[in-house]
Amino acid sequence: MAVHLRELLAERKQAKDDSRSLLIRTIMAKSGSQTYLSRRTGLSAATVSTIVREFAEKRWVKVTQVRNESHVEIAQTTGAAVGVELGFRHAAVVARRAEHGYEDAKIELRKVGAALGSSRWLPGVTEAIRDAVGELGEEEIAAIGLAVPRVVNPHNGKLMPPALPPWNAGEDPAAMLFDELRTGGKVRIVAPSVVLDNDANLAAFAESVYAFPDAEILIGIKASTGIGAGIVIGGKKFRGAIGVAGEIGHLVVEQGGKFCSCGGRGCLETIIGADALVEQAKTVLAGQKLSTYDELADLVQKAVQGNVACRRVLEEAARTLGSAIGNLCNMLNPNVVVLGGAFGREDAVNFTLAPCREALERSAMRSAVKGDGFKLEPSQVKHAAAHGALMVAFEGTSYVAA
Ligand SMILES: [Zn+2]
Repeated sequence: MAVHLRELLAERKQAKDDSRSLLIRTIMAKSGSQTYLSRRTGLSAATVSTIVREFAEKRWVKVTQVRNESHVEIAQTTGAAVGVELGFRHAAVVARRAEHGYEDAKIELRKVGAALGSSRWLPGVTEAIRDAVGELGEEEIAAIGLAVPRVVNPHNGKLMPPALPPWNAGEDPAAMLFDELRTGGKVRIVAPSVVLDNDANLAAFAESVYAFPDAEILIGIKASTGIGAGIVIGGKKFRGAIGVAGEIGHLVVEQGGKFCSCGGRGCLETIIGADALVEQAKTVLAGQKLSTYDELADLVQKAVQGNVACRRVLEEAARTLGSAIGNLCNMLNPNVVVLGGAFGREDAVNFTLAPCREALERSAMRSAVKGDGFKLEPSQVKHAAAHGALMVAFEGTSYVAA
């Protein structure tokens, strides 16, 4: 008899101490040995073992012996968990059951994004969610998270004012999506809310869970339309006091430089954000046009196909980015920096990674980025922000505690 995901999620409300909810969430994110679960949660081996036994008695988890280690996984569940990544022009939806691995998630991609306005992205994303959940053979959404490229207040899960384009003041994308999902259709939402978080935070979190579980300090760079970074320390998202941590796009790298959408001047984003790169590309392409729907994607595509001018623009940008990451390394001394977004695309890293690494090594202290203690790696998890959003949905609205 399958347990409904709702029941597992209710644990976080009922638990007097947070360790039970932390542990069940951690197992829902990824199954693993008790040693792994202890390391990932910071709970003692004895505590993990006691709680796992309780969960097994309730038939929430299955415990098997793998090479003298107790391997813990979620038992059969019903109810879908959904993660949505809403970019400016693209959306990715992942849906799975709690017992599935992330690589088994159903994936739906749509060419809609926040820049097209809510009359376009809301129905587009909702359809993608319903399709993904339907493919899973489920009718109920028990947990759903939404990743957006904006600062999200970790205390209330709302966009931090002032509203920056394409968002308008007071707009709450999570509430809008929640209402849209309640408007009928075969797939129903039973989750109490849609959980909102910043896309770079969530992408970094997914990389830390699925690709680099041993990294104590991981920084995930998401360089696409905007430039952001997510920081994961000891398995936890580091958001800062009000969610601004990791906003490397707004590091001032040119005193008195161009004005930026944040109100500052000379931010990194004014030099290597999509608008700046597209402008540079248009100059060097001398009359050749970029596709109008997503100019940055077309620029990367042309570079991948061997266009020397486009490649040059991206190499220079990767160098500028590397230098900024180097400064970050001096502050946080990470074990791993993951390069994601347009710069981390599988087919782009063979010309972005080397200049990025070279500049990083020049701007960082030698001891921070040389030797075994440091790695710069391209993104390993496809649609990482969507998978991160799915995991943050397991946390419900307990933003700060998580
Ligand atoms: Zn700025």
